[in-house]
Amino acid sequence: MRKIAVEEAYVTAEIAAEWGRELAKKTVEPGFRMMGQTMLGQSPGARRVHEQLLDLGAGRIAAMDAAGIDMQLLSVTAPGVQVFDPVTATALARHANDVLVAAIARHPTRLAGLAAVAPQDPSGAATEIERVAGLAGIKGLIINSHTHGEYLDHARYAPLFEAVNALRLPLYLHPREPSPAMIGPFLDYGLYFAGWGFAAEAGLHAMRMIMSGLFDRYPALRIVLGHMGESIPFWLQRIDNRYLLQVRIGAVGKLARLPSEYFLEHFLITTSGVCFEPALRMCLEVLGAERILFAADYPYESVEEAVSFMDTVNVPEGVREQIAWRNAVRVFGLD
Ligand code: MN
Repeated sequence: MRKIAVEEAYVTAEIAAEWGRELAKKTVEPGFRMMGQTMLGQSPGARRVHEQLLDLGAGRIAAMDAAGIDMQLLSVTAPGVQVFDPVTATALARHANDVLVAAIARHPTRLAGLAAVAPQDPSGAATEIERVAGLAGIKGLIINSHTHGEYLDHARYAPLFEAVNALRLPLYLHPREPSPAMIGPFLDYGLYFAGWGFAAEAGLHAMRMIMSGLFDRYPALRIVLGHMGESIPFWLQRIDNRYLLQVRIGAVGKLARLPSEYFLEHFLITTSGVCFEPALRMCLEVLGAERILFAADYPYESVEEAVSFMDTVNVPEGVREQIAWRNAVRVFGLD
């Protein structure tokens, strides 16, 4: 069965070099210090992943062929440009988008992409969103969760959301390590990493967007969450239930709609990194088959395992098709 994988990572040599310069500074965000050192590490495994991230050509296409992936929707890997100053971040995002567009032009039937933006400069991000929206192969945007500890519900990101909302581009909210204000208790035992901390961070980020009323201001927003929705589908009933209690006792303001209603209307989720039938079946019951998309998280996860899961998981064949590729075609406007 055809497979379109929608959370597939790349990086430019320029962004990786700037990570190195950032890590050499005296003050480095604690999460980025951990992750950056790992990503730029010299172990054979780290070097292989780094080469895979840089390869937007023959090596990547060969890996896709070997694993049975028909198309990758590419995005700059976490934390992308979000650890840099505004000027550096804006320039490197623009360059990474140009590299992406050129790679897609060489393999237009195999690659498509999400453009990076630098939230550090919201007006600059809006300008870049308007620029990339017209470029062949760009199907949405990627933001790798917090930017210097700040979340996208903050009012200063209004220009960015004005542009996203007007152009109707899906925004993939990808995880990274927890923000500096929350990472302390995540540092022991490796909990800052993808097994738990990433979902805690990205799930919190998505909940802040919901609870801030962002979706009333920008009704066309569509947010894509990886990793089976970063745990939010599991908690949805309790989120509503305790929100209503907080409204009754005057602890929080009332939103126009329930938190779950915003989630079910404005969010899509992907299977990246989660090859677990009970989780998929629950998400199918909570969100429906139209809102779940296949992703493999190349080159971090086993693409073979993701493909095998998709091919064998116990769901009706029509549902398997929706998740494996049909939803991606509809949501991202692919051919
Ligand atoms: Mn990923």
